[in-house]
Formats: sequence, C-alpha cells, structure tokens
Amino acid sequence: MSRYEAVIGLEVHVELKTATKLFCGCSTEFGKEPNTQVCPVCLGLPGSTGVLNKRAVELAVKAGLALNCEIGTHTWFDRKNYFYPDLPKGFQISQIFRPIAHNGYLDIEVNGQEKRIHITRAHIEEDPGKLIHTGESITTSFASYVDYNRSGIPLIEIVSEPEIRSGEEAKAYLEKLKSILEYTGVSDVKMEQGSLRCDANISVRPAGTTTFGTKTEIKNMNSFRAVQRAIEYEIDRQIELLEDGGTIIAETRGWDENKGITVSMRSKEDPDYRSFLEHEISDIKLTPEWIEEVRAALPELPDARKERLVKEHGLPAYDAGIITGSLALAEFFDAVYEKYPDAKTISNWIMGELLRLLNARNLELSQAKITPEGLAKLLELIKKGTISNKMGKEVFELMFEEGNDPEQIVKERGMVQISDEEQLAQILTEVIAQNPKSVADFQSGKKQAIGFLVGQVMKATKGQANPGVVNTMLRNMLAEK
Ligand SMILES: [Zn+2]
Repeated sequence: MSRYEAVIGLEVHVELKTATKLFCGCSTEFGKEPNTQVCPVCLGLPGSTGVLNKRAVELAVKAGLALNCEIGTHTWFDRKNYFYPDLPKGFQISQIFRPIAHNGYLDIEVNGQEKRIHITRAHIEEDPGKLIHTGESITTSFASYVDYNRSGIPLIEIVSEPEIRSGEEAKAYLEKLKSILEYTGVSDVKMEQGSLRCDANISVRPAGTTTFGTKTEIKNMNSFRAVQRAIEYEIDRQIELLEDGGTIIAETRGWDENKGITVSMRSKEDPDYRSFLEHEISDIKLTPEWIEEVRAALPELPDARKERLVKEHGLPAYDAGIITGSLALAEFFDAVYEKYPDAKTISNWIMGELLRLLNARNLELSQAKITPEGLAKLLELIKKGTISNKMGKEVFELMFEEGNDPEQIVKERGMVQISDEEQLAQILTEVIAQNPKSVADFQSGKKQAIGFLVGQVMKATKGQANPGVVNTMLRNMLAEK
C-alpha cells in the first residue's frame, strides 16, 4: 500500500454542438482555413456587441440535467481578464459567479467498484482562439500561430470535485462524461478535434490525512489514455519529490506525449483575473417549467440503457456496460436485435469480432462497413447451419472491410458448410480406412481419439464439413464396426 493518496480534480471543456458561435453568427464548422470564420464580434473589435445564442443555453442546461445538476434560474456572464494572444478582447466572457449548473454527479466503475464523483459546477463560456505551435513538441517549439475560427465557439466547462484518486478513475470519469454528452447530443466530444479538452489538478497527501497538498495543473493531454498516463506520472513525480525532502511547486505543467513526462510551463499563483460583470450580454433567466421541459425531453442515458440490456435481455453487466458506453455501439446492438432477437449471440459478436477489428484497425464504428442488417443475416446463416461459426468469422471480417452482403460472400467464395450425410459418408469411410490406429484407440476406450478423426474430415473438406454432424456420424459408424 502506498503511504500517499492522490487528490485529483478534472476540468473538462466541452464544445457545444451549435451551428453558430456563442455571441455571433459565424459558423462553428471544424477544419476550415484558419481565420475564415470570424467577424468583428468574435475578433473582439472595439464597438462590436454580440447576442447570446439560445441554442447554446439549451444544450448547456441539457448537459447539466444529464449530469444530475441543479440549474440556476437566473445566471449571467462575467468578464475574466487576461492578456494572451489567443484572446483579442483581453477578456473572456464566462460565468464566474453564477454557473448555469452546479452540484451534480456521475457514477463510474473501476475494477468492479462503483464510485460517485461529484460535479461542482458547469458553466458556459466562449472559447479563445487556437494557438498552433511549430515543431515536434511543445518543449521544442520556436513559434506559434493563432487561428481565431475557434474564438467565440460556445463551451461548457465541467468541474469535478477533487474526489478522483487515480489515473484509472480519471479515465473512467472521462469515458462516462463523454458517453453522457454523446447520448444527449450536447457535443461531438471529439478529443482529437478539440471539442473535448481536459486539464487535471493533482496533489498528493499522506494516506489518511484530509488537508490538501500543493497542487499542480496538467495541460496538453490529447487522449483519455494520455490523461491517465500523465496523472500516473505526475503522482509518482510528486511522491518521489516529497520522499526526497523536496517541496511541490504550484505550477502549470504540460504533458509531453513523446517523452511520457510532465514538464513545467509556468508557475501558478492563484491568479487574480479582476473579473467583473459582462454588461453587454443580457442575463440568462429560465423558468422552472422550461427547465422541466428540457428534462422531460432527455433521451435514455447510458446507465439506464445498460440496466435495460441487463434486465430485458439478460446480458452480463460487463457486456452491457461496454456496449452502452458508446451510443453508436448501443444503437448498433438494438438494430441487430430488431432483426435477430438473440441478445447474447449479438453481444458475443460485438464484444468479440467487432471490437477486435475496430481496435486492431484503430477505427470508429462509423468507419466500418458492416451494417446491423448484415450482421443479423450472418447470424441467421450460422444458425441455419449454412456456414460454421468459424466461417462466420471470416465472412464477418469481409463484411467489416467491404460491406458486402453475407449471402453473396458465402456464395462467391463457395463457403458452404457440408451437413449432408450422404455427401459426408464417403469422406468418413475414407478417413476411417486411412487411420486404423485412431479407430482402434477409440474402440479400446480412448474416447478423445474421435477428435483426431473429426480433424481429418475437416481437413479433407477444407473446413467445410459441419463438425457436429461429422462427430455424430463417426460415433455411429465406429459403433457399428
Ligand atoms: Zn463571429
């Protein structure tokens, strides 16, 4: 047991899925030429005033409700003053004093243990521009460019209580958060496109104590795996430093993915942003009735969907958790089930072949060619005995790559399972004649010798014989001898 305990809080910035920016009509579309989606408002030119995007407020409330938060009926925006090239106005419009949502939670599961992580607050703010650093990594960069396409895109910042204790818990928290936001349609939650970004506050303290140690803030992590690794590295670094009699410096550190280490970026005293009221954008006033309407329109969330797969379909909780962890996978499951209502078989193919191929090729489900209708047809072919389970896996891979119809693949490749006894009898007779020793073994009571004989038949038929039928026939023929 470690003598130290880690205290971790996460700040997650999530881009809200609106067509236009928070205070202007510029497009939020990702991947356009730098500085082509800008106007006087999002460039912060003097004299320009924006108007609040109502859709952003609705999405933020949706997110807050899905995260079990209380929603403020009267909240407003503030100006957070700081000077940096990504922020042309010199202040960021954010909700500092009154967040739209507060006091929520989400539940995670790590190593079979459930744990509730509380959410302090979720507030709306505008994104600053994007700095693009040259060079291989942030430590070797010699210049930075600014793209203001991102300036003014609506975000919610979701702040957790410092209740996370390990890199693994942090990853589980992010995965759950991502799936909730995905289910509610609040965000694209694509970390690689920057629509979900995470900073981690980390400190350590002697196990069993309750005062907080000095914390560092880790930035620049671009995958959930990176968050986990960065946290694990930072915990070890802090413990080692304390063990050696050193002191932790309150600072912002960057994760260097290539080197697998965190490096000091700047010292961090509690900054005074001299925040003050944003007086040009009107306050957000929501009626309890409207909030309840948004709540009533929330879709089924991941935990409820998992519960349903366990209760209605009898799936193991582990399978159900993985399938419902991603909305795309959960919808795929439901669509197959509609055509082929055998939940456990579908789950086996999703958990086995589908996830194996997605992971091996590093693909999202939307990039794979296989359709739910295709998988349902394939399972039907296996059930009817047209092809074996093993052939089914080959066909599955071809469907995954090419998206072809399974019946067509089976026909084109001549992958038909031989179950016809007349057709098999001839081959079996030959195999029996060629393997007198195995036959004798079997007849003298070594029942496992049958496996070898079945194998010989499979070999002679290039794997096309139905092993179940062969097994029964062999036993009958040998019993007669
Ligand atoms: Zn604009």
